[in-house]
Amino acid sequence: MTAASKPAKAATSSLRIYFRLLGYLRPFLGMFAISLVGYMIFASSQPMMAGILKYLVDELNEPSSVTRHANAFTGDLDLTYGVPLLLVIVVTWQGVGSFLGNYYLARVSLGLIHDLRRALFDSLLHLPNGYFDQHNTGHLISRITYDVTMVTGAATDAIKVVIREGLTVIFLFGYLLWMNWRLTLVMVAILPIIGVMVTRASRKFRRQSLKIQATMGDLTHVASETIQGYRVVRSFGGENYESTRFRVASEDNTAKQLRMVRTSATYTPALQLVTFSAMAVLLVLVLALRGDASAGDLVAYLTAAGMLPKPIRQLSEVSSTIQKGLAGAESIFSQIDQEPEPDNGRIEKQRVSGRLEVKDLSFVYPGSTARVLDRISFAIEPGQMVALVGRSGSGKSTLANLIPRFYHHDSGQILIDGIDVEDFTLRNLRQHLALVTQQVVLFNDTVASNIAYGDLSDSPREAIENAAEAAFAREFIDRLPDGFETMVGENGVMLSGGQRQRLAIARALLKDAPILILDEATSALDTESERHIQNALDRVIAARTTLVIAHRLSTIEKADLILVMDQGRIVERGSHAELLANDGHYARLHATQFGEPAADNTPAAAG
Ligand code: ATP
Ligand code: MG
Repeated sequence: MTAASKPAKAATSSLRIYFRLLGYLRPFLGMFAISLVGYMIFASSQPMMAGILKYLVDELNEPSSVTRHANAFTGDLDLTYGVPLLLVIVVTWQGVGSFLGNYYLARVSLGLIHDLRRALFDSLLHLPNGYFDQHNTGHLISRITYDVTMVTGAATDAIKVVIREGLTVIFLFGYLLWMNWRLTLVMVAILPIIGVMVTRASRKFRRQSLKIQATMGDLTHVASETIQGYRVVRSFGGENYESTRFRVASEDNTAKQLRMVRTSATYTPALQLVTFSAMAVLLVLVLALRGDASAGDLVAYLTAAGMLPKPIRQLSEVSSTIQKGLAGAESIFSQIDQEPEPDNGRIEKQRVSGRLEVKDLSFVYPGSTARVLDRISFAIEPGQMVALVGRSGSGKSTLANLIPRFYHHDSGQILIDGIDVEDFTLRNLRQHLALVTQQVVLFNDTVASNIAYGDLSDSPREAIENAAEAAFAREFIDRLPDGFETMVGENGVMLSGGQRQRLAIARALLKDAPILILDEATSALDTESERHIQNALDRVIAARTTLVIAHRLSTIEKADLILVMDQGRIVERGSHAELLANDGHYARLHATQFGEPAADNTPAAAG
C-alpha cells in the first residue's frame, strides 16, 4: 500500500532483502509479466461492477435520453438484457484475469522457492567444517524446511495479494477520482494514518517472526537429537529429561506464535475501525455535497468506496506474511552469504607419488585458545606406514582432519610430494586422499552404493566386489539377504560396528588413492572382527602411503614409524621395538593394553 512514511533502518533492510529476493525472479520475468497482466484484468473489473450499478440505477430512476427516445421495446431490451449480459461479460473478464494471475504467479513463486531451497542446500555442501561445529543440525534443517516455507508464504500469498489487491485499490481509486476528485482527496487524508499503523506493526511482526524461527529450530534440534540418540535416551533413562526439554521448546514456540497472532488480531480490527470511520465521514460528505450528481453517481461512488476497505484490509494483513517471509529470507541469506571453504589453490595433479610431510604444524580450533597441535613434524615416504598413537584428546583426529583441509591451519606446512596442500585445488587434493573417519558414516542405501559413493558411483561391479574382498567384507556381505543389494538402514543400523568399519575401508580401497588416512574407530570389536580388520589393513597398506591412527596397538606393530602424541605434541618416535626398549610413553600405553586389558577402549569417540 503506501510507502513507509518513516524510512527507518529496519524498513531499508527489509527492502534490501525483498529486492534480493526479487533478484531470484529474473529467470521468471516473462511469466511474472503474464500474471501481472492477469491481475490488471482482474482489478479493472472492480470499477466496471460499480459502473454497471450506476447504469442500472440511473436507468431505473430516469430513463436516459437514449432509451427515452427509443421505442419501449429497445429501451426494455437495454435494461433487461443489457445489464445481465454486461455482468456476465465482466465476470468472464475477471475470471480470465484471475486465472492468468494466479496460475502464472504460482509458477513464478514455486520456481523461486525451488531455486532458493537448492541454493541453500548447495551452500551446505561447501560450508567450512567450522560452520557445522557452530550451528546445530536442528537449526540448519529447520532453515530448509520451515524458513523456506515462510518465504513461500511471502512469495505466493503475499505477492498475490499485494499485486491483485494493490491494483484493485489503484483502479478503484482512479475511478473514484474520476467520479469526484474533491471527495476522493478527503479520503486520501486518512492514508498516512494507515501507513504509520502498517509500518509499526510490520516491525513488530518481523521481530516476533525471527523469534518463532529460532524456537522452530530448537524444536527440530531436540527432536533430531532424541531420534538419533534414542538408544542412549532409553538406556540412561533420559525420557523425562528429553520430554521436558521438548515440552519447554514447544511451549516456547506456542507462546511466540500466540503473541504474533495477538498482534495481528488486534491490529486488523483497529485498522478497520479507522477505515470505516473514514467511510462514515465520507458518507456525510457525499450526502451534504451531492450537488447535481445523479442517484446512480452516488450509488456507484459509494459502492466503489465501499469496495476499498476489503483489499486494504487484505493488504494490511499481508504485512505479517511478508514479515515472516522476510525473516525467513534473512536467515536463508545469512547462510548463503557464508564464505565457502577457502579454495585458492591452483595446482591439479593427475596422480601424486604420495610423499606426505608435515612441517612444524601448530593448530588452534577457530573460536578456541587451546593449542590442539603443537609444532608437529614428520614425513612419510611413498609406500610407508606411519602410526599415530596417544591418549584420547591428544590431537590425532585433528591432525588427520588438517590433511584434507577440513580446517585451515595458519602455522606450519603440510606437503604432498613437496607441494603445500593449500596450493592444490580442494577437489584435486581430496582425490589423492582416502579417508576412513573415526565415526563411520553410511548412507541409507545398498551395500554396493555405500562402497561406491560419490566420485566412485560409476565403478564397475567387479571393482566393488574386489574392494569388498580386500577389506574382508565379502565374508559378511554374501550372508546378507540381498548381498550387495541389501539396504544398510540409516547410517548402517543393520550392520555391526566391525562390519560398518570394513565397509568404510572397502570404500577407501575402491578409491585407490595414493595416500590413505585411517582413523580407527574406538568402539570395542570382538577378536574375530579385529582379526578381519587387521587382515584388511595388512592388505590395504601395501603400496600406499598410510597414516594410521590406532587405538589397538596390535594393529601397528608393523608400522615403519610410530609417533606417540601427548597434548598436541609428538613426545616419542621410533619403531615398535625401539619404543618398547625406550620404556617411555609407548611402553606404558602398551603395558596398559596388554597387561590390563580391561583398561582398553576407554576413550570416548571424539570427532
Ligand atoms: P581420540 O583418541 O579420543 O579420538 P584424538 O586424539 O583424536 O582423541 P582430537 O579429536 O584430535 O583427539 O581432539 C583434540 C582436542 O581438540 C580435544 O581436546 C578436543 O576437545 C578438541 N577438539 C576436537 N574437535 C574440536 C572442534 N571441532 N572444535 C574445537 N575443539 C575441538
Ligand atoms: Mg580421534
